[in-house]
Amino acid sequence: MTDCLFCNIIRGEIPAKKVYEDDSIFAFEDISPQAPTHILIIPKEHYTSLKEVPGTEKDLLGHILLQAKKIAREKGLEDNGYRIVLNTGRDSGQAVFHIHFHLLGGRRMSWPPG
Ligand code: 5GP
Ligand code: ZN
Repeated sequence: MTDCLFCNIIRGEIPAKKVYEDDSIFAFEDISPQAPTHILIIPKEHYTSLKEVPGTEKDLLGHILLQAKKIAREKGLEDNGYRIVLNTGRDSGQAVFHIHFHLLGGRRMSWPPG
């Protein structure tokens, strides 16, 4: 999508600190980190949210989650743990409508989330 912020980041038209990229997904540092490590992992295919992802995309969703695990390990988060967040829709606070998984770590987090 031409007018989507994260599609523009994938195309390199808006700069971002890339952490990982392959044929189907892209990971980059969040511009406003909420933890010492805060990375966004997104599919290159534009889906506005989880609500829009079809049942045929099991491999894509699994790939994102497993890549999040690898990135967490690379960032040294494995021992102390980390949190993966997928905001979906208005009540969750989703602000960018290209599905993205947050990988957060490096500090103690509270529960329940605000
Ligand atoms: P949401 O609230 O939709 O789950 O999260 C959107 C995230 O995108 C926020 O954590 C926000 O800081 C991040 N974000 C918004 N605009 C940009 C940007 O231009 N570049 C990067 N790297 N992150 C962004
Ligand atoms: Zn997009």
